[in-house]
Amino acid sequence: MEKDKTSGSSYSRRTFLKQGAIMGAGAVVAVHTVPALAGTLSAPVMTHPEGHVPAILGGRPVKSGSWPSWPIWNPETDEQRVIDVLRSGVWSRAHLVEEFEEKWAATLGVKRCLTVVNGTNALIASLVQLGIGGGDEVIVPPYTFIATVIAVLATGAMPVFVDTDPETYQIDVRKIEAKITPRTRAILPVHILGLPADMTNILKIARRHNLAVVEDACQAWLAEIDGKKAGTFGDAGCFSFQNSKNLPIGEGGAIVSDDDGFMDRCHSYHSYGMPYGTLVGAVGAGTVMAGTKLRLTEYQAAIGLAQLARLEEQTDLRNKNAAYLKQLILDIPGIVPYKLYEKVTRAAFHLFPFRYRSAEFNDLPRETFLKALSAEGVPCLSGYTPLNNQPYLGHAFQTKNFQKMYSPESLDIAAYLERNECPENDRLCQEMVWIPQNVLLGSRNDMELVAHAIEKIRKNADRIRKNGN
Ligand SMILES: *Cc1c(COP(=O)(O)O)cnc(C)c1O
Repeated sequence: MEKDKTSGSSYSRRTFLKQGAIMGAGAVVAVHTVPALAGTLSAPVMTHPEGHVPAILGGRPVKSGSWPSWPIWNPETDEQRVIDVLRSGVWSRAHLVEEFEEKWAATLGVKRCLTVVNGTNALIASLVQLGIGGGDEVIVPPYTFIATVIAVLATGAMPVFVDTDPETYQIDVRKIEAKITPRTRAILPVHILGLPADMTNILKIARRHNLAVVEDACQAWLAEIDGKKAGTFGDAGCFSFQNSKNLPIGEGGAIVSDDDGFMDRCHSYHSYGMPYGTLVGAVGAGTVMAGTKLRLTEYQAAIGLAQLARLEEQTDLRNKNAAYLKQLILDIPGIVPYKLYEKVTRAAFHLFPFRYRSAEFNDLPRETFLKALSAEGVPCLSGYTPLNNQPYLGHAFQTKNFQKMYSPESLDIAAYLERNECPENDRLCQEMVWIPQNVLLGSRNDMELVAHAIEKIRKNADRIRKNGN
């Protein structure tokens, strides 16, 4: 868990735990308890006497109702399948898991899909089955959820960090080639926040240097570049269905690819190494590889099928609302919204991100801005802290396996940290503000309220700051 750093909102760690969501994305969704007012204007804000007073100073919040809650569960359409599974006694992987895999592959326009227990293990399995392990280097971005990087470490490979493009928040393709060494085996781009990475150029670099590409699409369900789905560009695409994700099952993940041999190996690996398909041997020949156990259950698939049925419509709504909100806040000084690469035709918007420049808010610190925005009824977060200098790296280097696989020079942590500095990313982490995806499931009017809340805080930034918040 990685919670407390994403502070600045009105909910406590206990609320977070109560909501039961181990946030894969670090995206805590602040669900307000006031029921049933979603989409209603709290008041004609500008005309009320206290409408100008920021909520953090005792004024009326811009948004008084609740936001769409997450995850969504509709008993009428969703429950029968789950009940049928429970009553059937067939709980381990069977036909519903296969149905979910077929539907997810078809939705993405990819040949094969294999579900696994979570996104982290989708990444580990993909890397291992592409032959990546001890002594290898894998290129990763520092602006991501921790799972991306610990997946690399779990294989025994060494993560190599490439700085972030501060406009798009994705791995900066202009800086990848400088980090390639004779040990580099793969690039692991992340479509972070659900905004697609620059796959066109990443694939060019990978081809030039004969590197594998594993896409971390764990926040990028249905995102597209030139009409082609995120996760279908590389040798493997990995997805997460954790509770907070846009396609939530509670826990779950998937690997997708067009490569039958690779997918057969992943299937075998995810089920103890038992034979699967043509590549790994014939049934009855005994266990063919040193695998593990990563299988999804039937009731998870039943939940997934229910969620999948609404993903397309929700994604559409998130895209429409994000574009509208972006346009509304684009000209507010000190607010710099995300940029999409030119060829992006759709984003997943797991989060709605923008950079906050305190200099243009009378030096109101970001933490106070987040508190003030939260007080206005708008859930918000400060997002990730840099992953290229945290204690887990030194810990990995101390493990028995790393000590045996690498030279003492490679495991010199001070030199490693210096080689892996990412100054643009450090700055980005200081400036970032996230609004969680469920806000984008609100109405068009809700987007106006969010923009209004930001403008209200800016107008009153001096007062808020002097008030000592
Ligand atoms: C959620 C997430 C993962 C890991 O998925 P889990 O299902 O939580 O294991 C990996 N990468 C990114 C970017 C994620 O957001």
